Amino acid sequence: MPNILDGKKLAQEIELILHQTIESGLKVAKRPPGLAVLRVGNDPASGVYVNYKEKACDRIGVRSFAKHLKEEILLEELIEIIKNLNQDKNVDGILLQLPLPSHLNEASLLRNIDPDKDADGLHPLNLGRLVKGEKGPRSCTPAGVMALLKRNQIDIEGKRAVVVGRSILVGKPMALMLEAANATVTVAHSRTKDLPSLTREADLLVVAAGKPHLIGKNHVSENSIVIDVGIHRLPPDTKINLQESNKNKLCGDVKIFEIEDKVAAYSPVPGGVGPMTVTMLLANTVDRWQKHCGLPLTISHLLP
Ligand code: NAP
Repeated sequence: MPNILDGKKLAQEIELILHQTIESGLKVAKRPPGLAVLRVGNDPASGVYVNYKEKACDRIGVRSFAKHLKEEILLEELIEIIKNLNQDKNVDGILLQLPLPSHLNEASLLRNIDPDKDADGLHPLNLGRLVKGEKGPRSCTPAGVMALLKRNQIDIEGKRAVVVGRSILVGKPMALMLEAANATVTVAHSRTKDLPSLTREADLLVVAAGKPHLIGKNHVSENSIVIDVGIHRLPPDTKINLQESNKNKLCGDVKIFEIEDKVAAYSPVPGGVGPMTVTMLLANTVDRWQKHCGLPLTISHLLP
C-alpha cells in the first residue's frame, strides 16, 4: 500500500472507464448520459464545485444540464424545476448543490428529486436503502472514500473505524458504508468528549468535521489509515506548513505535516477525496443512464 492514497490518479482511471462505457453504449442508448446540477445563489465555493463538475462531464461525454438560479428563487419555483427535470428523458442524474440559501427547505427539495435520478443519494428513500443495505444511488463523497480504500487494497472488515462528523452529506453515510463493509464504527461529533483518545483507537480514521487542521499527531495511532475529507481555502498570508506544490493554499481537517510519518497511509488535500467525489457523481450518472436506457449495468463494481 502506498503511503499517499492518490485520489486524483484513481479518479482519472475511473473517468477513463466511464468514458469508454459511454462510447460503447451510445449506439444502443441513442443519447449520452445527462446530469443536471442545480446551483442556487452565489456561494463562491459552490461555484467552484459546479465548475469542476461541468468540466468533468465534458471530459467523459456526459451532457450537462447545469442551472444557475437566482438567490431569491421561491421554494415552489425550484420544486417545479426539479419536477421538470424528473420528467426529462435526457436527464439521468439530478444534483442539488448544497448549501442552499437559508429560506429554502433542503429536506423538502431533496424529497422532490426522483429517487431514481438522485445522483447524490440524499433522497430519504436512498438513505433508507443505505441503512437497509439495499442497492441504490450512494452519496458521492463517502462512495469516493470507499472506492479509494478498495483500490488501495485496504481491508476494512473487522477494523476499528472512527468517523469524525455526522452530517447527512458525509459523516452518516460514511459510517453506514464502513459498517456495511464490516468495520466496527464509532461516530464522533462536536459534543464528543476527549476526541484525541477516541480517534487514537482507530485503525481507520475518516475526518469530515469541516474544521481546518482539527486533527494532529496526538489524534492518530501509528500504522493507522487517515482519510481527510475536509477542504478549506486558507488566506493568502497563511504561514502554516503547506507543501510547495499547494499553490491554492488548500488544507483539510488534518495536519498532514504532523501525521505523514506516523501513519500507514493518508489521503492528501488537494488530490485525495475531492476528485473522487466528482468521479463518483459521474459514476452514479452513468449507472443511472445504463439503467434508464436498458443497457447492461457494467459499472456497479465501482459503486459501494
Ligand atoms: P457539516 O455539515 O458542517 O458537518 C460537520 C460535522 O463535523 C458535524 O457533524 C459536526 O458535529 C462535526 N464537528 C464539527 N466540529 C467538530 C469537532 N471539533 N470535533 C468533532 N466533530 C466536529 O460538514 P460536511 O458537509 O459534512 O463537510 C465536512 C467537511 O468536508 C467540510 O470541510 C467540507 O467542505 C468537506 N467536504 C468535502 C468534500 C470533498 O469532495 N472533498 C465533499 C463534501 C464535504 P455536530 O453534528 O455536533 O455539529
